[in-house]
Amino acid sequence: MTDARKVVIIGAGPAGSTLALRLARKGIRTVIIEKSAFPREQIGESLSGECGVMLRELGFQDQLDRLDFPVKRGVSVYGPNGRGAFWVPVGEPGPDGTLIDGTTWQVRRPEFDAMLLRAAQDAGCEVIQAAARAVQRDDAGLPTGVTLRFDDGRTDTLDADFLVDASGLAGFLSKAGVAGPRERGSYSKQVAFYAQFENVRRDLAPDDGNTHIFYQRKHHWAWMIPISRTKTSVGIVVPGASYRASGQNPEDFLTARLADLNDEFSRRMADARRISAVWSTSNYSHKISGFTGPRHLCLGDAHRFSDPIFSFGVSNALKEAALAAPAIEAALALDPSDAAPVMRAFESLVTGGQDRVETLINTFWEYPLAFLKLAHFDRPSDIAELFSGRIYDPSADQLPAMQMMYGLMHHAATAERASA
Ligand code: FAD
Repeated sequence: MTDARKVVIIGAGPAGSTLALRLARKGIRTVIIEKSAFPREQIGESLSGECGVMLRELGFQDQLDRLDFPVKRGVSVYGPNGRGAFWVPVGEPGPDGTLIDGTTWQVRRPEFDAMLLRAAQDAGCEVIQAAARAVQRDDAGLPTGVTLRFDDGRTDTLDADFLVDASGLAGFLSKAGVAGPRERGSYSKQVAFYAQFENVRRDLAPDDGNTHIFYQRKHHWAWMIPISRTKTSVGIVVPGASYRASGQNPEDFLTARLADLNDEFSRRMADARRISAVWSTSNYSHKISGFTGPRHLCLGDAHRFSDPIFSFGVSNALKEAALAAPAIEAALALDPSDAAPVMRAFESLVTGGQDRVETLINTFWEYPLAFLKLAHFDRPSDIAELFSGRIYDPSADQLPAMQMMYGLMHHAATAERASA
């Protein structure tokens, strides 16, 4: 039986659609507001091991196989000059709970996101194609609905018993003043240029679907992600200042970096042919604190994204949706004053997960050799566990690898203070 209370979700990316699917399966009435006509382009094609596990749990294995998305078994990271590669296998829980080698997928986001949205609709979620424009509030300041604007200029309002911002980097509830202000993230000066290519040299089967990451120097790197049998997504990420100093347009800048960023990258791109436009993204690294209340929450990129180096984005979106569904169900049954601690507990859990993600990323950038040693020699199983989903579990703080990374980052902060 469908619950009459209504959860309105802004945005049909992986965060919004999988939350809608989970809520609809609980019998909770859900409405998604999405401004773009699907399928729409989106970056973020390489999925983590845990993301694969969650997609299988949600019942998507057959559809993902039918879409013929490349199977990913792990990530190879190449050091400067193409040497010093380390390998992080995709891990998943084995029958006794310990981590075993597994597989996940690389996806073409237009088709992937459309698949998730269709599943939410099939489960009973209503989808309205319109842009959410403003938030209605009651006398206590709690959100009670949103104003919508349709492509033809019409406007309407929609009541909501609970409002979810899954609008990605648009950060709808922060801009509306319902969630906290947007702060720049640690990687906010980075810019990414990317395109699709054919004839990229891949590893031999069964490793032909793996991700390759090429490190040049701090904050200069590239990715290679197979997204079909023939197409590969290739991107470079550099500080914005480095792009501006080049004086080049995005196409020429990307072409030049294919040749000089990393020897192994150039080798694999030697015969490659670009088959798409060159896209770019900047200003993606941000953080919003205070992203929940008794009748609202922000999910996925709508409250935080730091750096794409380790492909945590879609996985975090799905994980947060899984944590949000029971929290929203509980909050709907409570008065606002009793719902507030439930939402605060959700926010604290999610913030802990995102903080750990950032510690992993910061350690890689600040201490690449120490990170390589941890991942390759000292604690490979800890690192594989963190990449396979343990990152949102507070017990991950006890892993020796996590302790070592906290120590290194503490040392970096102390050194920075001393030199200031
Ligand atoms: P989104 O996917 O951004 O979805 C938000 C939706 O909200 C959109 O459909 C948008 O149209 C809609 N919307 C926005 N405003 C409104 C409004 N006012 N009204 C109605 N609808 C609205 N992640 C990975 O997992 N793997 C990767 O390999 C990877 N690579 C990346 C590379 C780069 C350069 C960058 C910048 C990110 C990368 N990411 C990657 C991260 C990934 O793209 C995001 O984390 C992920 O898409 C977040 O999903 P989401 O559902 O939170 O938001």
